[in-house]
Amino acid sequence: MRKKGREMEEDVIRFLQDVRSVLRCHQVGSIVDYPAGAELESFLGVSEREKIPVREQIVPLPEKQKTTRVAPVRKKSDQGSLAEIAAEVKLCKSCGLAGQRKCVTPGKGGGGSIRLLLIGHWLPVPEHFTGGGIDKTVFGLQEDQMLARMLAAIHLAPEEVFVTNIIKCGVGPGIQPQAEHIDACFSYLQRQIKAAAPELICTMGMVATRAMLRLSQPLSRLRGRFHMYNGIDGMEIPLLPTFHPNYLLQNPEMKKATWLDLQVLEKRISAK
Ligand code: SF4
Repeated sequence: MRKKGREMEEDVIRFLQDVRSVLRCHQVGSIVDYPAGAELESFLGVSEREKIPVREQIVPLPEKQKTTRVAPVRKKSDQGSLAEIAAEVKLCKSCGLAGQRKCVTPGKGGGGSIRLLLIGHWLPVPEHFTGGGIDKTVFGLQEDQMLARMLAAIHLAPEEVFVTNIIKCGVGPGIQPQAEHIDACFSYLQRQIKAAAPELICTMGMVATRAMLRLSQPLSRLRGRFHMYNGIDGMEIPLLPTFHPNYLLQNPEMKKATWLDLQVLEKRISAK
């Protein structure tokens, strides 16, 4: 029996949702090559002139950012407390983002002995944001709420955690920070790590993970297990990469994988 128009429409929507889900999985795994065999070309109706490019990049990332090398910029002071570093960040004009920033996010949390340091990429500020409090967030309004739930789930109090970003300037959606901005800002993070002296570090998202570990592997290969961060003055701190809350808001199907990562983190924390 022939399907009615409405049923066909629903089938197409389901099919497209499945395709989107598969592509998201590929994106997480940094799968960028799709074999353009004769069958696929025939299915897609591709002519000789329109052959699918051999390399179809589905994870747009600036070339420089792919192989982030860290070249710390020396600041006025070599060290300082978290509060002193935050005060320096608020006045910083060390890179081109200074003139474009909408706020500054040195980080928040701590107050007691810091057990965990969480690191994201930068704060994207919505274009027409008019509400107050954006400068009190680190990852974003919804993202910070999700993060608070994640930390509560692994039994960490807010004062045991310090949350910050690789890039301290919050910028509008049209601005894509580059590797040079990570390099310029990185010494603040190094000093924060030394000041906070956390037991563990958790990087959230690909940008923070690659910058901290100086590796170019996809997040899917690095997440969920501990690596070693080698800091200034010979500091060594176990580091676990996982997904960024912003990514989880857009891809809720990845929450389960993130929960597994958080359990690895909790196990290590409770063993200390
Ligand atoms: Fe300074 Fe970092 Fe902002 Fe650049 S991104 S201006 S280095 S605080």
